[in-house]
Amino acid sequence: MKPDLARLRGYQGYFFDLDGTVYLGPHLIEGADRAIRALRRQGKKTLFLSNKPIESCRDYAEKLSALGIPATLEEVINSSQVTALTIARMAPRATVYCIGEPPLMDELKAAGLRITDDPLRAEFLLASQDRGFSYAKLNDAMLALRHGARFIATNPDRTCPVAGGEIPDCAGMIGAIEGVTGISPEIVCGKPFRYMLDAALERLRLKVSDCLMIGDRLETDIQMGAETGIDTLLVLSGVTTAAMAADYPFKPTYTMNSLADLAQII
Ligand SMILES: [Mg+2]
Repeated sequence: MKPDLARLRGYQGYFFDLDGTVYLGPHLIEGADRAIRALRRQGKKTLFLSNKPIESCRDYAEKLSALGIPATLEEVINSSQVTALTIARMAPRATVYCIGEPPLMDELKAAGLRITDDPLRAEFLLASQDRGFSYAKLNDAMLALRHGARFIATNPDRTCPVAGGEIPDCAGMIGAIEGVTGISPEIVCGKPFRYMLDAALERLRLKVSDCLMIGDRLETDIQMGAETGIDTLLVLSGVTTAAMAADYPFKPTYTMNSLADLAQII
């Protein structure tokens, strides 16, 4: 089916997932740079949205720039940043027990939040991907929730792509805490949920109807359409095949093999 070109070209903001959409591990996906350059030449705004909490926005901006897609810090949003802003808005200067890695801690501090090692003092329990997760941290998480901390998580991903395969992501930490306490996070901040989208729209000062979300993962990038009403473009250059997309209950607005197809027609 031919895409509606006028509609596809008519957005003011284009949001890009990173891994599987713009690059695969260390390698640029052919055509991604051309598509983004063409959009920017037309005065479109571009923003990169990542759920991955174990690297900083600065890391992403530097990686994109090295791959030939110049990107400033303002053009990247990740789930750590959205989470820090979300908690800081709910309770400025709140005290957080954080299961997560240093880039997430840095975002929390930058948002004026206080990090504690004492689960009994925590107003929030934050769960994220943590390669140092342990029985002791799980026990602390349980204590924090028993003492009334509010449970927040950075992102819903089960796994995170890495060179040669994948590693457990935030869903593993959430699942362990749920298993022990029976309590689920009241907010999960990353894609497909509205907290990430709201941060992106606010950054570009655009409305949801002015923007397109482009990504390779059905349950995050494309599900964002179902959660928030944003139009979506599925690229088959990452983790999703055409057969998987056909089986998925929610359909993207557009489907392409990769950003090289978008570069051709934009
Ligand atoms: Mg992806």
